[in-house]
Amino acid sequence: MILVTGGAGYIGSHVVKQLLDLGFEVVVLDNLSTGHRQAVDARAEFVKGNIQDELTLDWLFDTYPIEGVMHFAALCLVGESVVQPLKYYENNVAATTLLLKAMARNRIANLIFSSTCATYGIPEVDILHEELPTRPVNPYGRSKLMVEHMIRDLADAQPFPFVCLRYFNAAGASPSGTIGECHDPETHLIPNVLLHLLEKKTDVSVFGDDYDTPDGTCIRDYIHVDDLANAHILALQRLLRGDKTAAVYNLGTGTGYSVTEIIGACESITGRKANVIHAERRPGDPDRLVASYEKARSELGWSPQYSLEDMVRTAWKWHLRHPGGYSADQ
Ligand code: UDP
Repeated sequence: MILVTGGAGYIGSHVVKQLLDLGFEVVVLDNLSTGHRQAVDARAEFVKGNIQDELTLDWLFDTYPIEGVMHFAALCLVGESVVQPLKYYENNVAATTLLLKAMARNRIANLIFSSTCATYGIPEVDILHEELPTRPVNPYGRSKLMVEHMIRDLADAQPFPFVCLRYFNAAGASPSGTIGECHDPETHLIPNVLLHLLEKKTDVSVFGDDYDTPDGTCIRDYIHVDDLANAHILALQRLLRGDKTAAVYNLGTGTGYSVTEIIGACESITGRKANVIHAERRPGDPDRLVASYEKARSELGWSPQYSLEDMVRTAWKWHLRHPGGYSADQ
């Protein structure tokens, strides 16, 4: 059985679905602070609780035959982390310390940790590989990097197989149309543009158009959430087989798109026109973040299968079917 913390969130819920589809048994631990109960596949066990709660963790490890843990439960907004840094250190770092302690106490190994390209900071090269220096420029990136260090230190002290996956920009939704991206407030580019095209409530803001990129808007590497999910499963299978793995893998497609290009892709796929306004730069945004996924390809046998068009198409299907997100689904 696999314990998935944060399995009611956007990426976690897609991983849970894939694990179940492959025949794994899954127990989800989520406090539903940002996740949605409806996002958790009915085939999974669900426990509402906090990773900081030692009694709940000991009970989970005692009750279920847990062979591995996927740890998604975290806060993940760069802008919020700049304004409320301690919230990030408490929820992402201190809380994970307690999860790791509980794993060590209960002799549970095999951890897959959700990390981020925000650990690199403002890179000096165009394509990022895992050996580059990590100099995060916001508390969110620092909190994730601190956890990477904690995990490595634990693995130096005792046998503790783990993999840290540094995500680039997760996008898209399950092609089934049953689960998708649903944040409140929504801050991410693709859902913001699609929700605008759906409801026309607010205009689309482009945060900064004087970056050092061809059209002046920030470039990001968007990766389909089911491609991310597949990488988690390949990493888990290696850990469960006892294969030696490297500690850290980037998960991106190797191709970057600017904010303007993303808005254009959303317009052409939906056949609708966006009202775009130009706004101030958002604090903490590097010009360009694009992954090399060569290490994940050669060591995990992973490569992304979905194109940008697939990401926008599957996200659009989700928004069309669930215009009010999960809260409107009963
Ligand atoms: N962005 C934007 N308008 C929006 C949301 C995002 O211009 O409504 C920009 C943002 O400044 C960044 C890029 O789009 O350059 C991707 O932002 P997102 O929040 O989706 O992901 P992040 O890279 O912060 O994880």
